[in-house]
Formats: sequence, C-alpha cells, structure tokens
Amino acid sequence: MTNASNQAELADLVVARPEGLYCPPGDFYIDPWQPVERAVITHAHSDHARFGHRHYLASKAGANVLLSRLAGITLQTLAYGERLDIGGTTVSLHPAGHVLGSAQLRIEHKGRVWVASGDYKLDPDPTCEAFEPVRCDTFITESTFGLPIYRWDAPQTVFDGVDSWWRHNAAEGRASVLFCYSFGKAQRVLASVDAGIGPIFCHGAVEPLNRAYRDAGVRLPPVRPVSEIPAKDKAVFRHALIVAPPSAQGSAWLKRFGDYSDAFASGWMRLRGARRRRGVDRGFVLSDHADWPSLQTAIQATGAERVIVTHGSVEPMVRWLREQGLEAGAFETQYGDDNAAGDP
Ligand SMILES: [Zn+2]
Ligand SMILES: [Zn+2]
Repeated sequence: MTNASNQAELADLVVARPEGLYCPPGDFYIDPWQPVERAVITHAHSDHARFGHRHYLASKAGANVLLSRLAGITLQTLAYGERLDIGGTTVSLHPAGHVLGSAQLRIEHKGRVWVASGDYKLDPDPTCEAFEPVRCDTFITESTFGLPIYRWDAPQTVFDGVDSWWRHNAAEGRASVLFCYSFGKAQRVLASVDAGIGPIFCHGAVEPLNRAYRDAGVRLPPVRPVSEIPAKDKAVFRHALIVAPPSAQGSAWLKRFGDYSDAFASGWMRLRGARRRRGVDRGFVLSDHADWPSLQTAIQATGAERVIVTHGSVEPMVRWLREQGLEAGAFETQYGDDNAAGDP
C-alpha cells in the first residue's frame, strides 16, 4: 500500500466544512446549515433541518414531520436499521429518542464506524422510539446539557407535577397555559398528561405537528385548536390545558383565556432564576435532550475511543472525555441556535 492510500484509509469519516459536517468518502453532509447537493437529516428541528438542499435522506419514522416543516423537498427515507450504500460508505439510521423520527447516523467505511448522533435523550418518551446505543470507533455527540447541574427527574414525576398544577387551576376555574417548543416537547406533553382532568387546546403553531404525529401513528388525546373557539367565549377554557409555543408569551392571543396560570416546560428551567426571568407562574424541568449522566451513559455505551462534540457545553464535555482517557475534540457547528426559545 502506498503512503497516499494509507492516508486516505485513516482519514476522518466526518469533517467540518463551512456548509456543515461532511463525509468525504460518501460525499454527503449531515444536518448542513448551508445548501448542499446531498443532506442526511438527523431530525426535523429547525437548527438541523433546513430548506435548500437538492436531496434529503432521513428516517421513515420522521418523514411526516419533516415534510410538514419542509414542504416540497426531495426526500428519500430509510427505516431504522436499513442500510444504504452512498459512495464508498454504508449508512444506516438508528433511533435517537429525541423527537419523532430522530436518528443517529451510522457510517461504515472500510471497516471503520462513525456515528453522528444529532440530538438525543435516554429518558422514555411515548411519542418516539427509544435511543439505541450503536457501537462505533468515533461518536459525534451533542452536549446541550453537558454540565453536572443538569440532572432530570423521571419524566413521570415531571408530568405528575404538570397534572397537579392543571388540576389545581381547574378546581379554581382558571385556565392552565403551558409554553413549550411546538415540535416534540408539545406532543410529548400531550401524550403524557392526564387527559381526564379537563379539555385540551393548542395554539395554531402546535396543530400541524400534532397532525403529523397522528399520521405517523402516535397516540395523542383529543386536542382542539384554540382558534375553533369564538374569542368572547372564555368559559370553555376554565378547566382547560392550553399548549402554546414560547413565542405566544406576552401576546394578545392570551387575553381570550381570561384568568389563567402559566408555566414553561424546558430543560433550562433547571437553572436558578429561570422561571422568574421567564415571568411565568411555574417552571417544569422537562427536556428532550440527555442530561449530564445520560450523556455519559450514552457515550460509554458506544465503546468509542474518540468523541467529537458539536454543540452546547462543549468545553466541559471535552474535558470530561479526556479525563476518561478518550480522544476528544469539537466541531464548530450552527446547531442549537434557537435554544432560548425552548431546547430543540
Ligand atoms: Zn439541536
Ligand atoms: Zn433537536
């Protein structure tokens, strides 16, 4: 073997380019932020799935959601675990447990395996398939909540808290307005609360996502769009839970509910003072990202000797990885842009 081909053999399977993360032997990008010829999309959140690429490849489970957000794209889908040859590589998608259709991308090339995880969580979520650990040599990970302060309670504990807040408000004849990210978090909340407490309504931004989830076979309780109710009719909301995106906060849209209590559901609610800064009555710590212990568990389960961190708390994660004796580095990416609005 010549020196040159030996070099190619050992070259990285994913590198950072100005357009996004790029796989040289497969000639495709992963969640690119600038228009490219061929994009593999890990999930449909706006910081990972953008308009403008010529060809899209994504999971079959997430096709409805992706098309509802990026109408008209040229989309090829893969079932989880299904293999596809692209260039000299074999790729497959594996559940990431983050939102409906979220996938980790496994790339195999000449006996080496890299996995790009996109966003992921390990906690149970009735609206998407559970995270699947995939063995690899190099693991590309997010680190949105990569600090020891981020530790989530069991989801059921969080939803019990949401239920008792809603139940208390309903008993007092007051609407319960819950702000959360409209794709993923909202459907997880809807699928997890006790729908027996009262009627459930949603904001117009949440409705198309609910439809895409239902079309994909995810069970959600009956949810009516707020817009169906005449603006003067406040009484129907007195026992209701209303799910709305963070952008609705402080808007005139809220006037129709009369007396209401509001709450925000996000991993960022773990931070001291976050609820007060948000200006809401209650903060529920609920994230679709792995917390610090889960990030460590997920990374260790891959068996990877090398880990590359893409977004979030990059430095602390890289430091921890090196303390574990792993080779660690970072990619500069444009993921996690709109974290302030939720935690996509
Ligand atoms: Zn993200
Ligand atoms: Zn995401």
